[in-house]
Amino acid sequence: MEISEVRVKLIDNKDDRLKAFCSMTMDNEFVVRDIKVIEGTGGYFVAMPSRKMSDHCPKCGGKNHLRAKFCNNCGAALSEDRARKNAKGRLKLHADIAHPINAECRQKIQEKVIAAFKEEVEKSKQPGYKPTEIDEPPDDDIPEVVS
Ligand SMILES: [Zn+2]
Repeated sequence: MEISEVRVKLIDNKDDRLKAFCSMTMDNEFVVRDIKVIEGTGGYFVAMPSRKMSDHCPKCGGKNHLRAKFCNNCGAALSEDRARKNAKGRLKLHADIAHPINAECRQKIQEKVIAAFKEEVEKSKQPGYKPTEIDEPPDDDIPEVVS
């Protein structure tokens, strides 16, 4: 698989760890959107598109995010320990929608996306810079990273 294009939309907020949304084209024919560049304590990393996991209210069957304390549908109190923990003991609240299967591929994507991100940061310092047009995902939560 070749990554033929990475488009980067920078997010301009200094306090947030979320630095950019990206889309990535593979072999000129398949696009993955909603890839995020996040500033971690050890540098930038790439988060694959993910969705919040949810479960069903035991009382009415309504669907709720795992962090919800009350049911969106009937208002019943929900127990707090519904999220499963991953190997590192962190709550697993998000599930990747698309992701690399092996470490080499993860590395390749990481390098390409971070390089494109840094290039875009440099471009953004030039006068007359026009930000890339990419629709931002509706849910801009920062997913935890399970590597
Ligand atoms: Zn309910």
